[in-house]
This record gives sequence, C-alpha cells and structure tokens, in this order.
Amino acid sequence: MGVTKDFFMMLSQNKLLNNGAKHWGLKLGAQSVVAGTNIEEMIKSVKELNAQGMSATIDNLGEFVFEKQEALEAKEQILDVIQAIHEQGLDAHISLKPTQLGLDISYEFCRGNLEEIVSKAEKYKIFINFDMEDYSHLHLSFDLIDELSKHYTNIGTVIQAYFHESAETIKAYKNYRLRIVKGAYKEPEHLAYQDKKDIDRHFIELIEYHLLNGKFTSIATHDHHVIHHVKRFVKTHQIPNDKFEFQMLYGFRKDLQQQLVKEGFNFCTYVPFGADWYGYFMRRLAERPQNLNLFAKQVFNK
Ligand code: FAD
Repeated sequence: MGVTKDFFMMLSQNKLLNNGAKHWGLKLGAQSVVAGTNIEEMIKSVKELNAQGMSATIDNLGEFVFEKQEALEAKEQILDVIQAIHEQGLDAHISLKPTQLGLDISYEFCRGNLEEIVSKAEKYKIFINFDMEDYSHLHLSFDLIDELSKHYTNIGTVIQAYFHESAETIKAYKNYRLRIVKGAYKEPEHLAYQDKKDIDRHFIELIEYHLLNGKFTSIATHDHHVIHHVKRFVKTHQIPNDKFEFQMLYGFRKDLQQQLVKEGFNFCTYVPFGADWYGYFMRRLAERPQNLNLFAKQVFNK
C-alpha cells in the first residue's frame, strides 16, 4: 500500500476529524460524491438518477458508532428513508452498515435495530443490503445476516474479493443477492491479498462464480477492464440481464454509468448522503488519489 493510500486511510479513521466534519457541511469536494446532507436533497438526486434509467441504493452515511443515542438516531433516519422510498415511489433500496446501528456497542442492541429496519422494509418490499466493513466486523455481520434471514427474505450482502476466505464465503451465501467488490479497508497480508493483480483475479473469479451459481449479482466497480470482461462473460454464458446489474458510486465515471444504461444493462448507483461524510470521502481518496482532483477543483473554484 503506497504512502498516499496509507495517509488517506489514516485520515479516514481519525475520530476527531470524523466528528468535527459532521459540523462542517459538505466540504473538500465531497459535494461531488455525496448526494446532500438531508433526506430532501437525497430524494432529489435519486429522482434524477431514476429519470436516467438508474436505480439507487441509498446509504445514510455513518459508521463505527459507539454511542447508543447516535445509533438510535441512525436507525430512525433509515426508517424515514424507507418511508420516503415507499411514499415517493423511488426505484431504490437501502445499503447500511452494522457498525452505524451499534455493532460495537452490543450485538443484541444492533440486531434489534436491524430487525426494525428489515421488517419495515419487508412490508414495503424494499431490499436491504448489509455493506461489509473491516475484517473485525465481518463474522459478526454474517451472524446478523444468518439470524435475520430466518425471518426475513429481503436481505443481501457484500463479498470483498481481497479476503482469501471469500472464495468459501461466496459458496455459503450463493442463495443471496450479493454485491461483489474488491474491498475498501486496509487489511493484513494473512487475511487479504495485497497485490492489485491478485485482487483483480479473485474479483473476476467470484463474479463468474456467482453469475453462474448464485441468485442475483451486483458487480460493483469502476474498473472498465472488469466491466468489459463481465459483458463478454454474460454473453458467452447467455446469462440474462435480469440476473445481474452493474453498480458504481454516486458521482464517479458518470459517462460510463450512462453508457451501461444505454447498452441496456441494469444499473444501480450507490447514493451516500448525510452529515457523516468524512470517512467515506477519505476512503475514496485512498482508493484513487486522482480523486484529489475533486478536492483541487473545489479549492481553486472558490
Ligand atoms: P479500482 O481498483 O479502484 O480501479 C481499477 C481501475 O479502474 C483504475 O486503475 C482505473 O483505470 C479505473 N478507474 C477506477 N476509478 C476510476 C475513475 N473514477 N475514473 C476513471 N477511471 C477509474 N467496499 C467494501 O469494502 N465494502 C462495501 O460494502 C463496498 N460497497 C461498494 C459499493 C459500490 C457500489 C462500489 C462501487 C464500491 C463499493 N466498495 C465497497 C468499494 C470497493 O471495495 C472498492 O474499494 C472500490 O470500488 C474501488 O475499486 P474499483 O473496483 O472501483 O476499481
């Protein structure tokens, strides 16, 4: 991992800055990749995406919450988003992070919050995706999914290709709707591939496995090499368009997003919104320091 990447990863995990940024409003170029700080602004963005033929997965930003009150507020906000999706007839579902709903406070507390969300969403036939965070929360998150899946069917999750063990995990979860990603957190060598070539190879293997054996596959990447490969693969194996979709983050590679829609593929944009944007934004800078352009443009346009 390069120095720049390490630097932004370190910034993404700085508690003081994470908390401070909640009071700044959207700054440093985050406006380009975060769809507003409140539900009204987010709805406007989702309606624009829907009008372009894209669905949305909505993420109420926030993670690594250690205060019960904060986790309860996040839960209420997500319940409000579910209500808004239903009332406004949005083509959208929810992405959430268990640590925002209190996984670091207590497993049971988090499970209770998640159950309220999942049960309300199921009533409205809205899908809930459990985002995957760092390795220290991975197995607890899968435990939560296993437990809730006994009672609810509107749950899916994420497989991170950089983990060695994800080759096994994907087999165990093949009957779920899965988003497959490369993986966004800094993880040690004994758990995760470090070399880009290894991660890319494993990413492709997992996507192919789920496309052939799984329920529904969300291929979440901005990597045009992977996207081209998938397009050829689905054609060769006659995998129908309703078995998969491409996903990208809000504000990234808009031309490519629109191109995929034009070509007739299902496309879903990951739409983050809210005051707690800092950690998310720093991880995007760590992934691709060129994203600093967003920051530079913002500073020099003042
Ligand atoms: P990269 O490896 O970053 O890029 C590969 C190549 O693609 C680059 O070399 C370049 O040629 C091209 N490229 C990439 N970005 C751009 C750009 N902006 N402009 C032009 N060319 C570009 N991670 C998790 O750990 N857990 C999650 O739950 C999770 N959910 C995600 C949901 C979505 C919808 C997406 C898109 C990502 C998610 N991630 C998640 C993040 C993911 O794990 C990766 O960290 C992130 O997507 C970067 O990898 P990449 O596949 O986009 O390609």
